[in-house]
Amino acid sequence: MKEVILIKNGELALKGLNRRTFEDVMIRNMRRRLSDLGTFTFTPAQSTIKVEGEDGVDLEEAVERISKVFGIAGFSRALKLEKDFSLVLEHTGKYLEQQLLEASTFKVTAKRSDKKFPYDSPQICLLLGERLLDEFDHLTVDVHNPDVTVTVEVRDHDIFVHANQLKGAGGMPVTTAGRAALMVSGGIDSPVAGWMMAKRGVELTAIHFASPPYTSERAEQKVHDLLGKVAKYAGRIELTVVPFTEIQEQIRDKCPEDLFTIIMRRVMVICAERIARYGGCGALITGESLGQVASQTLGAIGCTDAVATMPVFRPLIGMDKDEIIAISRKIDTFDISILPFEDCCTVFTPKHPRTRPKLPDVEAAEAALNLDELVERAVANVRRIKIG
Ligand code: ATP
Ligand code: MG
Repeated sequence: MKEVILIKNGELALKGLNRRTFEDVMIRNMRRRLSDLGTFTFTPAQSTIKVEGEDGVDLEEAVERISKVFGIAGFSRALKLEKDFSLVLEHTGKYLEQQLLEASTFKVTAKRSDKKFPYDSPQICLLLGERLLDEFDHLTVDVHNPDVTVTVEVRDHDIFVHANQLKGAGGMPVTTAGRAALMVSGGIDSPVAGWMMAKRGVELTAIHFASPPYTSERAEQKVHDLLGKVAKYAGRIELTVVPFTEIQEQIRDKCPEDLFTIIMRRVMVICAERIARYGGCGALITGESLGQVASQTLGAIGCTDAVATMPVFRPLIGMDKDEIIAISRKIDTFDISILPFEDCCTVFTPKHPRTRPKLPDVEAAEAALNLDELVERAVANVRRIKIG
């Protein structure tokens, strides 16, 4: 008798990605996430993966971590029993005691993949239902809308007993959709954007532009902490920190003030693409949301996109701030994001940024910079840090 975790797969109707690959990647991701908790075995069968830890592992923590692995639609903690129905009758009430005490109605369902098992599904439901009614006086059966559904799965080697399934993180297993570079600031939006793309199976690397001494070490620490939270879902993230001070000073000194932000964003994209390509990424990700600030108008985004040669994913583009905040709370980045440290975007910001910049004006203004050399120098002096 032992407690295990049963995983239900998420989206399986996938184009170009067969179920085996999907499962293999999901198992690899779970294995990594649990590796420091002890030895676990992962056994796929039908549409379920059984996760079993060695004796004494912290199952509570394992469940917590598994709840953040993308690709998992739902999961249950389950009691694993030998194939003897008397054990089911004996142990189910005790195992599900807490949930059954809190419920007023229940039903039993049975799944029997071993057709040779001496009890068929209706018999299992009837006998276990009677037993639970005996053990819990306050309970009644409701087959349509029960508070608790007790499930008995009779498999080839074991019987599993579990109650209400928990919701998994959903989405697709990370790495199945390739790799992209998240442009991450210390704000609310970009960590959420990264989380959203990781949910679609994208492996993340991260790029952060820092402008010391205008920006502090604590501002960079904030980015590390934010990525640490995202990594609980997305797996390990390599962060590349790009020195941006010289570039910002040059833009301030040589370009018109009202175009400062747009030019800065374009140079960020140029640098980010270089780093992304070197890291094998197929896209950039930003936390932009249409109309949120002056640099996120249609015109400004158009000017920024004009320097991009790889796709720029903006998963928050159509979201309201409160919707973004709701996700940032859920993934536990919000409290870190609102810490008040200066980001390079708030250094030298113009009083009146142009909201409808014209691309030829921007390009003409940029010509005053020695861009190739500046980008070259910034990209040559990055620092790389592994997070998660
Ligand atoms: P966030 O909350 O993500 O900081 P924001 O609403 O403050 O976004 P901006 O400051 O205009 O918006 O930045 C827009 C996007 O540009 C960010 O979501 C992020 O993807 C990218 N970005 C901004 N600052 C940096 C930075 N210092 N390093 C890397 N990327 C950045
Ligand atoms: Mg910001």
